[in-house]
Amino acid sequence: MAKVSFWGGVGITGSSKVLVEDEGWRVLCDIGLDRPHSDLYHHPVDPRPGKELADRLRAGEAPWLPHLFSEDAVAGTGLAGGGDGRTAVFITHAHVDHIGLAGWVDPVVPLYAAPETKAIREALSAVGRAAQQDPTFELIFAEKVMLEGKTPTIIPMAADQPLSFGPFTVTRYPVDHDVPGASGYIIETRHQRVAFTGDIRLHGRHKDWVEVFCEHARGVDALIIEGTTLGVHTREAEYPVMEEQVDKSFADIMRHTKGLALITLRPRNIERIESFTQIARSFGRTVLWSKEFATFLSAYGIPSAVMEYSPDQLARIAAAPSHYLIQMWPRDIPWMTDLPLGPDSVFIQADGDPRLSSPAGRSLQHWLAKYRVPLRTAGSRGHASPEALHQIVGRIQPKVVYPLHTHAPELLLPEPPVVRVVPQYGKRYAMG
Ligand SMILES: [Zn+2]
Repeated sequence: MAKVSFWGGVGITGSSKVLVEDEGWRVLCDIGLDRPHSDLYHHPVDPRPGKELADRLRAGEAPWLPHLFSEDAVAGTGLAGGGDGRTAVFITHAHVDHIGLAGWVDPVVPLYAAPETKAIREALSAVGRAAQQDPTFELIFAEKVMLEGKTPTIIPMAADQPLSFGPFTVTRYPVDHDVPGASGYIIETRHQRVAFTGDIRLHGRHKDWVEVFCEHARGVDALIIEGTTLGVHTREAEYPVMEEQVDKSFADIMRHTKGLALITLRPRNIERIESFTQIARSFGRTVLWSKEFATFLSAYGIPSAVMEYSPDQLARIAAAPSHYLIQMWPRDIPWMTDLPLGPDSVFIQADGDPRLSSPAGRSLQHWLAKYRVPLRTAGSRGHASPEALHQIVGRIQPKVVYPLHTHAPELLLPEPPVVRVVPQYGKRYAMG
C-alpha cells in the first residue's frame, strides 16, 4: 500500500517536502530549504560554505532521506548518498522554500518542474553570475539568488501530460500563486491518488486554473494543502485583495501622481511586474529598474531599462519627473537626495522590500517624511485565505487532508466526511 510522509513544512511555513512511496519507488514533491526551527543556524550563524547540507543534516534540519542527495553532499553524515534509480523529484514552484535544496540532489535523480520554474531559476543564476563579475552588485532579492550546491538540471514538464515513473503516474497542473509556473501535482499509484496543491490562492488572476486542478483532484485518497494563512489574524491574510484590484489601485496612483513615482516590489512576481509596467506606460511613464532587477528580467525575456543614477540620467529625470517610475532597493534610498521629490511624488510599496516594519522600512519612512513624499501601498499576497483553503478542500472532497506549510494545521477544519490529519515529521501514513 502506498504511503505518504512529510519531511518539511510540518508545523512551519515553508520548506515543503512530501514523499509518496510505493513498491520501493519514491516520488518527492518539493525540496525546500528548511527554515530553522531549532535556531541552531540563524544568520549570521550559517552552515559552513560547501558543507551546508551535511551541516544541516547533522543538526536535524534537512530530511534524512537515503539515496536522494549526492555522495559528496552527505559525506561524513552517515546518510547513504547517490541516487537509487527509483526516485524522482517534482517541484511546485521557484520559491526557495520549495526548491532550495535541489542543488544537493544526486544528478541520477530526475528533477521535474514547470518550464517557467526552470526559466526563473536560470534568470536568477544569471543575476548570480553577473554579481561575480561586478562587485557593486548587491544580492538583495528577498530570498537567496543562487541555490546551494550545484546548479540543478531541471527537466521541464508539460502541464496536463501524465508522466509514468515506476508504479506512479504524475501529472502537473498549473495553479495560482505569486510566481509563474506554480503547479499542483496529482500522483497516482496502482490503487491510490494523492494531490498536492503547492502554494495556492483563489484571489489571483488564474482562479480558473485552481478550479481545473480541484476538478481533477476530486475524491483523492490524500490531499496535501498549504495552510500559510491559518492562524494569521491580519486583514491581509483573512481578506486578501484581488489582483485586479491591485492593478486598479496602482492605475489610480499613476493617474493622480503629477511628479516622480518610486516603487518597491518582488522580483519573482512577474505577472504584477508586467501589468504594472503596462499601466505605467499607459500613463506615459518609463520604468527604470535597478541593475540586479534588470538583469533578472532581461534574462527571463523581459527587456528592462536600468536606473544608473548617472548625471545624464538624473538630469533627464529632473527635467520630466512625471515620465518615470523608478524601482528602488533600500540601498538606493540615499539617492533620493538627487531626485526631484516632493508632495507631488509618490512612493509605492507593492509587497517588496523594504517591509515597513523592518529597520530599512522605518528608515524609508523617515526619508519620505523629510521630502514630504506620500507613501501608498498596492499589493496582495500569494496565499489563499483560510476561507479559500476550506473552499478548495470542499471542492476536492478528499478522503484525508493533511495541512502543510503552516504553523497552525489544527485550524483547518473540513466538513465531514473529510478527515483532517495533522501531519507529524517523518511519519509514514498508509493510504486507503
Ligand atoms: Zn511560494
